[in-house]
Amino acid sequence: MKKIIKIAMYVAIIILTTSCIMSNEVLAQNVEKIEIENAKEHFVNGEYKQAVRIYEQLLENDPNNISLLKMKAIALSNSGDELNSLKDFYKIIQQDPNNVIALTGMGVNFGNLGEYKEASNYLESALKEDPDNKIIKNYKQIIDEINIKYRYTPTEKPVSTAVKNNGEVPIWVKNTVSWWGIEKITDDDFLSILEYLIKNDIIKIPKESAFENTKELKMLSWVKGNLNAWSQGEIPNSEFFKNMNWLIENKFIKSDKIIQKTQKELDYEEYLFNKYLRDIKNNISKEKRYIEYPNPSQDVIKKFLRDYVKWNFEQQVQMSSSEFPDPTYEIINDVYIIKYKVYINEQPVGLPLDHVSTLENTFKFWESKELETNNQKAKMIFETTKLKHEANVWITWVVRDMGEGVLGHAHLGKGVVEVALGDYTCDGSFQLYDVESVETIMTHEIGHSIGLQHTNDRANIMYPSYTPSYAYCLLN
Ligand SMILES: [Zn+2]
Repeated sequence: MKKIIKIAMYVAIIILTTSCIMSNEVLAQNVEKIEIENAKEHFVNGEYKQAVRIYEQLLENDPNNISLLKMKAIALSNSGDELNSLKDFYKIIQQDPNNVIALTGMGVNFGNLGEYKEASNYLESALKEDPDNKIIKNYKQIIDEINIKYRYTPTEKPVSTAVKNNGEVPIWVKNTVSWWGIEKITDDDFLSILEYLIKNDIIKIPKESAFENTKELKMLSWVKGNLNAWSQGEIPNSEFFKNMNWLIENKFIKSDKIIQKTQKELDYEEYLFNKYLRDIKNNISKEKRYIEYPNPSQDVIKKFLRDYVKWNFEQQVQMSSSEFPDPTYEIINDVYIIKYKVYINEQPVGLPLDHVSTLENTFKFWESKELETNNQKAKMIFETTKLKHEANVWITWVVRDMGEGVLGHAHLGKGVVEVALGDYTCDGSFQLYDVESVETIMTHEIGHSIGLQHTNDRANIMYPSYTPSYAYCLLN
């Protein structure tokens, strides 16, 4: 099976020197475009230092450019410089607190530093923005598992005092709330009044007053009850702010006001964040903290390279498939029942995805199909064996370079099946494919093993090309 290779299209830029109509500004934009392409090329080749240098230069003229900051932060993270990567992701979040890649990147980096609790919080925020994102889910799952496994003391976070609020709420807001309480105004009206008040700085909501556990499922009617109690003077202003923050966090009230801070406040936040990072660094060396990385891809590739021959059937692939025994068959009610004995290679420990169990889905897939051989109906049955010499098919999961964009291959009818677990093309580092992709490649290759050729039907599993998805790559 071949991978669809995305070929980067280089925009050819024609500079009309004869008429010299190109302004400096346009020229500068084009130079920037070329530089961004250059950086990208270094990036996908795993030359992160070169890529970072280019992004740094470009950021000098445009220090808050989110897409440049994002690329630089990912390159830094991939090169193992978590602290500087965090600083760039933090700059993005200061401008755009809901940026999914930045929230995920923060999570991954904090995980790489062994601050699993903080990592999990960021990934949870990322999932709130993008609940179906498999990559974030994969990271969160691993980090939550590690967090349970190891005892560590989370580094204390400095509390920002930059955004202090006097805690005042104009008296008449209480009237508005009580009108809402007795349904004199609708939910929508109430929420848009509040939105207006926040936007125009009539009420300032301090970000730090929030409910302890915002994960609990609560409803608008619950807030209504709380605010009603507040309007009757039964609970303090701090409770009002907590409810406001809940409304904002759960998108009942749209507010970018809260994050609109002055440069001084932003600088102060950055100062505190940098202090936090320094404290983390000190704690790591003080505690001699053992860190398990939330992306297992690098660990897997190391194990593969260490025990290359064990995981790869490279020599057997060179053998002719005729050296493998033929599958046996019997004819029952005019149907060929063809029995394949399959030898399954081990997997290296540490692989987060159990591909042996997904292989059962592949077997079931082909066993449920009605095929044809010698113009007669045929059914497949798979049976695993621990004995290589009696197996008709050998299966292994590999990392080796099987050729440009090759995801897996198999002998036709019997022989060896090799399926790729990941590759280097997403972001220049080895990245594992997600479990569905590996299963799809496996099903296709086993199709060849039982004698099927490629088809032109895109919907058919035997279509020759496929684009796999990655399990952990941030650039995906
Ligand atoms: Zn194929």
